[in-house]
Amino acid sequence: MKDDKQYFSILQWLTERSLLSEKGESFDFKDRPWLLDILTDFNPHIVVVACAQVGKSISFILKVLFAVKHLGFNVIYTFPTDGDTREFVSSKLNKILQINHHEFAGMDTDSIERKELNGRFLFLKGLESKTAAVSTTADLRVHDESSRSPQDQLEMMGSRTKASQYKGNWSFSNPGVERDRLDLDWIASDQKEWVVTCPSCEDKHYLSWPESIDQETKSYICRACKAPLSDVVRRKGEWVAQNPGSKISGYHISHLMCCWITAEEIIEDSKGDPAYFNNFVLGKPYSPGDLSVSKTTILDLWTPKDLTSGNIYLGVDVGNIKHYVVRSDKGLLKMGRFTKDSELDDIIKTWKPTSGVIDAMPNTTLSRYIVETYPFMQMSYFMENANNPQLLVWWGEGDKKGIVYSFRDRILDQFLTNMIEAKWLISVPSDEMFRLYIKHYETLRREKVVNNKGIERYIWASTTGEDHFVFADLYSYLAMLGSGSGTFYGEVTEADKPSVLGSDNIYHPELTYVEGYEN
Ligand SMILES: [Zn+2]
Repeated sequence: MKDDKQYFSILQWLTERSLLSEKGESFDFKDRPWLLDILTDFNPHIVVVACAQVGKSISFILKVLFAVKHLGFNVIYTFPTDGDTREFVSSKLNKILQINHHEFAGMDTDSIERKELNGRFLFLKGLESKTAAVSTTADLRVHDESSRSPQDQLEMMGSRTKASQYKGNWSFSNPGVERDRLDLDWIASDQKEWVVTCPSCEDKHYLSWPESIDQETKSYICRACKAPLSDVVRRKGEWVAQNPGSKISGYHISHLMCCWITAEEIIEDSKGDPAYFNNFVLGKPYSPGDLSVSKTTILDLWTPKDLTSGNIYLGVDVGNIKHYVVRSDKGLLKMGRFTKDSELDDIIKTWKPTSGVIDAMPNTTLSRYIVETYPFMQMSYFMENANNPQLLVWWGEGDKKGIVYSFRDRILDQFLTNMIEAKWLISVPSDEMFRLYIKHYETLRREKVVNNKGIERYIWASTTGEDHFVFADLYSYLAMLGSGSGTFYGEVTEADKPSVLGSDNIYHPELTYVEGYEN
């Protein structure tokens, strides 16, 4: 084969030129058949919204190298920061160029920002950069991790391809929040989803959470007939546009499509940080600002049925007036208030909880007494886990034994989401106490706050400060999490758990310590 052969098919090129990955392996699409269509798609406007670690960066770098060498394109390839650019070039791009020297001879690996081949250029650039902005023009701009890139810079890049006939614009990313550039492009696209055919009922649909997973058997199931779906069935799908007719070619990749990821892993991930679960597992944007528990939400959970089922969990919010909630695995059994500390002993005697959680604030006298007297009781502190920001709940160990730590706003996100999804019910008399309980939920509001680094986050606040039943309820939920199997982690084991984030993804969680603020 002569070196100067021009290819028109990227797959023929990969095969005939025996191109290898950055690890020196041949490209194998057996487990990722859905990448093939993305690889061969040369639509000028492509948007890929994807979960973590599915090989999207490698697919796009192959497309780009093909476009530079065989389509004669000049390309601008962007990342969130210059650091991301350096990391990508040294760990991926340069390795591919070196391993496949027979195809890319002459493309220099010294420069980070600029690669040339046969008079065509590939420019690589961090959008959040102190150095000069990209001033060159190109046929194609490619935005890696566009949801984690400065959105105004992304918009400005459009002018760089104005002079080109092709005017290419490819972006791919783990999604971030709703209505960013990636999300808007996805909404405007043809929205292709990976559609599988159920062998039992022949229904064609794409897998979604939570409908496609049986939580009891921990297996993938058909959304229509509930029959199990094998890994072979999940692999054997096809891209089907959900919004046909759009000129923008859109793809959505989730872990549910990955035949090497078990239903059990998805279920485990769903119990963690909801932002992480949506962005990096489901490949969906997450905007918790929409989350709210209304009176209707709570009334919909109400049932006259008896929800008693073995384990009993107690949550106590401390203040001048103390509030408590008693629940089983199925739902709430009792809610009430008391003023005298000694009344809590009576409540514990009556209900004999399997476990319980009491607020450590505002004064620790009662909580210390309770934790020392009853070994199944823990006290709650709110904080962020500096070692593992994904971790929402963890037990204190050693001299911190008897303490349950949780990431306040994120555990509230998860708790309220579970409530909205009716993961449990409420069976209490429809009396004054229940009306007060509803009222406390109605005061909850999400507020956007900006920290000193300029990063936005949401916190939960109460419009009146009267949200005690919410926290008593949350503490009973923490107690339940603590008694469940596999959901309750010690500090060491969870911090040691390897991250599922691969090197093709850039995730900068905030490592700042957050004080447990008073509720
Ligand atoms: Zn079926």
